[in-house]
Amino acid sequence: MKIIVINCGSSSIKYQLFDMEGPVIMAKGVVEKIGLNGSFIKHERDGQKVTLEGEIIDHQAGIEYMLGLLVSKEHGCIRDFSEINAVGHRVVHGGEKFKSSVLITDEVVNGIEACIQLAPLHNPPNLSGIYAMKSLLPDVPQVGTFDTAFHQSMPDRAFMYAIPYSLYKKYAIRRYGFHGTSHRYVSERACEILGKQRTGKIITCHLGNGASVAAIVNGKSVDTSMGLTPVEGLVMGTRCGDLDPGIMTYVMEREDINRTGINSLVNKHSGLLGISGVSSDMRELEEAAANGNERAQLALDMFHYRVRKYIGAYAAAMGGVDTVVFTGGIGENSDTSRYEIAKELDFIGLSFDKQKNAGVRGQEKIISTDASRVTAIIIPTNEELMIARDTAAIVG
Ligand code: ADP
Repeated sequence: MKIIVINCGSSSIKYQLFDMEGPVIMAKGVVEKIGLNGSFIKHERDGQKVTLEGEIIDHQAGIEYMLGLLVSKEHGCIRDFSEINAVGHRVVHGGEKFKSSVLITDEVVNGIEACIQLAPLHNPPNLSGIYAMKSLLPDVPQVGTFDTAFHQSMPDRAFMYAIPYSLYKKYAIRRYGFHGTSHRYVSERACEILGKQRTGKIITCHLGNGASVAAIVNGKSVDTSMGLTPVEGLVMGTRCGDLDPGIMTYVMEREDINRTGINSLVNKHSGLLGISGVSSDMRELEEAAANGNERAQLALDMFHYRVRKYIGAYAAAMGGVDTVVFTGGIGENSDTSRYEIAKELDFIGLSFDKQKNAGVRGQEKIISTDASRVTAIIIPTNEELMIARDTAAIVG
């Protein structure tokens, strides 16, 4: 079975074509700068990479371009489109309606459209990808996998905000959480690697530009750090994470900025970038801190401290923890971050192994001591594979 996985952002489309026997990635790439000057597609097949420029005015044109490459003599890997059995789409917000991946029908499209209010920047491009695929490959089944779905198992005491209940009823204001596909993939993978005994209670730390932590009991998410929107929780590349809501109105008043301004402030100018004034990128911050930049060091300290606080909180919330998973660009690659986060967690039974951790990048590895009661493990995430598997299960 061959499945294309599509992840449409506002000006980009990431894609991977899987042959599910294996599974192997037959081709992958990204269309960038859609609707902007200088749009291009980066395409990779059999380790050969090409970058092709072209005028790509919208998502439909981008997907058409990508499909053309997949069947082209020079860069392709399939004879014709009849080889494509299904398309899996990443969809950011599924609200309370979607609790798992689903076959995309007209009713499902209506449901995703109804969630636009909750994710005005993300769901419209996701929908553009769905519309485009529907018109270009009308006979191929499509599946939607939602970032929010995995966290739909949270109990109300975890997902409710302590604001008037009527606001939940009126506008569905509650914690949804994101990165669900990643938290699900790495927690399931932890169970495969470590077995059930050590994975009843898992804390997964997805640490990338966007970052979130999830508490998972017997395979079900019971709490997560992102909320109604992805801005809550950890200190991120450019997002502030947890904040006293009073700060928002105070800053709006003092700086005379409106809701667009404050939204941009907490989403794009805060976090690691806002504190350091150097960069939102962990590698650049680590370098700046090593060269004595104190604000870069402060940003790092805040980032690590916030993750550690969440691990402690979720251990308390679950009444213990068996396994802590590190994933995402930072979790998978930054040995310093993993060390700074986990070095003082002996009190919850996690004895961190500095030697095992040192220098590990992008590979599955246990980084707690053999005697540690709690296992710490690095598991590189693979959201695309998870979407492909869900798609195969649904259409198969
Ligand atoms: P996104 O949320 O955009 O998917 P990623 O999961 O790719 O982000 O993570 C990006 C982050 O990972 C960046 O802050 C980057 O600096 C960090 N990162 C990637 N490689 C390394 C590395 N070798 N050491 C430290 N940080 C790294």
